[in-house]
Amino acid sequence: MAIMEIRKAGDKVLKQIAEPVEKIDRKIKHLLDDMAETMYAADGVGLAAPQVGVSLQIVVIDVGEGIIELINPRIIASEGCELGSEGCLSVPGIYGDVERCATVTVEALNRAGKKIQISGSGLLARALQHEIDHLNGILFIELAKSMHKG
Ligand code: ZN
Repeated sequence: MAIMEIRKAGDKVLKQIAEPVEKIDRKIKHLLDDMAETMYAADGVGLAAPQVGVSLQIVVIDVGEGIIELINPRIIASEGCELGSEGCLSVPGIYGDVERCATVTVEALNRAGKKIQISGSGLLARALQHEIDHLNGILFIELAKSMHKG
């Protein structure tokens, strides 16, 4: 495994629409491992592939309940609305209040290529929406109602 360089706001790859993964081969599994290691090393709760310079629809999340790996994720249901503080490894030192759905259900593939569904609320719902935004070239600073340095 290896720690990858985290791209910062202003890098073009963060504005691209990420491509779906067509085939979950050894390279993709290796990328999932490297993304997890990079996320943990940076003390983050989520990381999307574009943040390590790879424009593919891959996300890793760990809000303290173990690693969640999502390939080609999409939100299939959402409920409620809440404002909460957010940060991003690609925008170091900046925090902002972002309105997110309170609960979301995401459908994705796991590393075995099996279709999975994950429902989350609170921090997990926020992380899911934040990371999926990365796959659509959206940074939280574009959505924040207010921002502050942390
Ligand atoms: Zn982010």
